Amino acid sequence: MQKRARVAVTGRVQGVGFRPTVYRYAAELGLSGFVQNTPTGVLAEIQGEDASVSALLDRLCAHPPRQASIERLEAEEIPLGPNGGFAIRPSARSGDLVVGFPPDLATCDACARELLDPKDRRFRYPFINCTNCGPRFTIVRDLPYDREKTSMASFELCTECRTEFESPADRRFDAQPNACPACGPALALRSADGADLRADDPLHEAARRLRDGQIVAIKSLGGYHLACDAKNDGAVRALRERKGRPAKPLAVMFQSLEEIRRFAGVGEAEARELESPAAPVVILKRASGTGLSALLSPDTDDIGAFLPYTPLHHLLLSEISPLVMTSGNLSEEPIAKDEEELKRVLGRVADAALVHNRPIVRRCDDSVLKIVGGERLFYRRSRGFVPGHVALPLDGPPVLACGAELKNTFCVTRGRQAFVSQHVGDLVEYPAYRFYEEAVADLVRLLHVKPGVVAYDLHPDYESTRFARAYPAATKVVVQHHHAHVASCMIEHGLTEPVIGVALDGTGYGPDGTVWGGEFLVADLRDVRRAGHLKQYRMPGGEEAIRHPARMAFSVLVAEYGEEADEIAARLLPVSSAERGLLRQLVDGGTHAPITSSAGRLFDAVSALLGLCDTISYEGQAAIRLQTAAQAGPGRAYPLDVQHDGEALILSLAPMVRRVVEELASGVDKADIAAAFHRTVARGVADMCTALSEREGLRKVVLSGGVFQNDLLLGMVTEELARRGLEVFSHRQVPPNDGGIALGQAAVALARVRG
Ligand code: ZN
Ligand code: ZN
Ligand code: FE
Repeated sequence: MQKRARVAVTGRVQGVGFRPTVYRYAAELGLSGFVQNTPTGVLAEIQGEDASVSALLDRLCAHPPRQASIERLEAEEIPLGPNGGFAIRPSARSGDLVVGFPPDLATCDACARELLDPKDRRFRYPFINCTNCGPRFTIVRDLPYDREKTSMASFELCTECRTEFESPADRRFDAQPNACPACGPALALRSADGADLRADDPLHEAARRLRDGQIVAIKSLGGYHLACDAKNDGAVRALRERKGRPAKPLAVMFQSLEEIRRFAGVGEAEARELESPAAPVVILKRASGTGLSALLSPDTDDIGAFLPYTPLHHLLLSEISPLVMTSGNLSEEPIAKDEEELKRVLGRVADAALVHNRPIVRRCDDSVLKIVGGERLFYRRSRGFVPGHVALPLDGPPVLACGAELKNTFCVTRGRQAFVSQHVGDLVEYPAYRFYEEAVADLVRLLHVKPGVVAYDLHPDYESTRFARAYPAATKVVVQHHHAHVASCMIEHGLTEPVIGVALDGTGYGPDGTVWGGEFLVADLRDVRRAGHLKQYRMPGGEEAIRHPARMAFSVLVAEYGEEADEIAARLLPVSSAERGLLRQLVDGGTHAPITSSAGRLFDAVSALLGLCDTISYEGQAAIRLQTAAQAGPGRAYPLDVQHDGEALILSLAPMVRRVVEELASGVDKADIAAAFHRTVARGVADMCTALSEREGLRKVVLSGGVFQNDLLLGMVTEELARRGLEVFSHRQVPPNDGGIALGQAAVALARVRG
């Protein structure tokens, strides 16, 4: 029986080889009809034997192109049409562009094979790609996604490449960045002073220098990497010194999954992430005694590993592996994306640079995630995931949410889609702020929206706040930092009704003028009430207390021990007597010593008490050391106290501080103390939530804030809450840290403008 079906598909179905796949399946099954792109997705009409039509739809759903994702596939029977083969029709380009374009895609297996095949015309060609793989987000100047609107526009396709590009049956049909050695980009090697080294084989020469222990800047997809031999202590040390990054973990690229397995534990979910088209940095447990430099992540037993995601990486890693591959920038600056910016690191950090002439249109750092309880926990959501959207449970006018100050991302909404930007970074320094301004303008333009609503943080001094105030939009919505954290996690799970929101965080501006960061909120997307918080302490010297956890520890001792604090501090903390006197004045006088309920500062204080960290060189370092120390310890907990302050509940860990000090005096193992500390915080959170659940009649608990990057704590809190019958929600799509703030701001703004 002949039949004709009209099939409409939505989701990520453009720029991912969807039409050629439909074409191929139709040809194999002897079907007629056509397929085309539309403003909303893909439309196909398919005619032939009933069973064959069904077979095509089954196959499409079971085996879509690798990086496509089908949101909806609707098929309806329509009257028979002509029977005369199958065609790919030109795009219907009317109406709104609802379909975006995909993120950058790691080199696919077919291209990787051709790359190493001496008989292939693209043998060892570092820019090989096809419809299933290659640059996207980082080369697009404008939409629709056509070659003339990418940074490949200046490369004219040769006859062979054009034939591939125009043949529906070819893997490179409509592959916008298609190229070959005859017509595409080429490599070059620069010396430390920027001169062209005119190497016969720039890649080979770069590898030789890396083997020699040099630091080489490598032009990747979303910017330059700084690379060095990951087994060479001297090279890693030099990279750290020159870049101004003394201890923060460095990501390592390995040639293959098999190689990673020799250096670190890789579960099924981790392997899937590593080999995915997004190719993120995945945080793994490092194996001991593998020859990797101990300087890669001195504060943890973890290693951030990833696989080659461009052909250039594949070729380079086949010559030397593993390689440190860290963002090509000086500490706190945006990743360099062109040769002008490369000058900032070339000579100063890198001894040479492997460059090419395909411009990077848009910078995009590597994404970083960890698998926790079988699910993604993002530390940074960027390359490979952006510009994918997060689905919103509510609709409204376009919103620009400006994000926070550190680890900044921003967010633009269009209908029920929230587009969270690539990682922008810390807005403190001017170059980062410039990047921020550019990136906002860029995303707004790409999405063809004009945001009439701007959401921003309550903190008056954030650069993002200043930006928001100046942005020309009719409606401004200010969102408290921890409400935004909680809302971002709610959105991920489609929650709109009131929940208990637990925000364990470093710093966030509170409406009462104190520094918040250990918050128990009763919140929906619109409204928020501070139902409880951690016991408050003073931060002597403000920001200085963040940089020096030992000072925070002293402040906690002063609060808990009064006069005795000095003697205890003299024993436990590397803080001189003179300094203690000064800090004491700040704490007692209350000037330059803001009050905080921050969970991050509590972790800092305990880390310092245990002698693990007195001064930090990157955000979260003290907490990371505390977590690392805890891994080995068993699970007992200290006493804690839930107090009432009017309506608010106060979680006091003061009894714990006393026990920690006692145990340190009696020589209890620090790993044991660190583990018990984590368990105590988890119990405390659960006690607070249980009390609030009974009082407020709420059962859903949402966990957010930078402290939940600590997966040991996240696991314990989840377990304690579940044991008490509460429903727990944590982040899966955006980071719990300030990289997720913008999504929450956008959600709150949408809820508020709806009234
Ligand atoms: Zn490919
Ligand atoms: Zn060509
Ligand atoms: Fe935060």
